Amino acid sequence: MHELALCEAIADVVKSHADGQHVDVVRVRIGALRQVVPESLSFCWSMVRDFADMPEAELELESVTAAVQCRSCGHDSEITSQWSLLCPRCDSADVAVLRGNEFLVTSLDVSDREPQQTQKE
Ligand SMILES: [Zn+2]
Repeated sequence: MHELALCEAIADVVKSHADGQHVDVVRVRIGALRQVVPESLSFCWSMVRDFADMPEAELELESVTAAVQCRSCGHDSEITSQWSLLCPRCDSADVAVLRGNEFLVTSLDVSDREPQQTQKE
């Protein structure tokens, strides 16, 4: 499953940055060309975060629209269709993607709570 693999990648990044701190919020930027279904991503995250030992980490998605530069007419355009990468102005397929392939963890909210260690009785 596409979204599951993405969530596992997110969890890996978060773990390496959180350094044992309690994670409250994970912000992820995803370009339209990734064709991620937000509902699926949220669903997969709810499973992955438990395995990753951060069950309270909320996922916040920031969607980035795709944009292309057309080599035929030279125009920069935002792509509104999710399934086609033609220049909206002249319908040429000879385009360079300017953005829309993003997939990155942009920031984390962590709290100062002590990392959970061995319990003292
Ligand atoms: Zn064009």
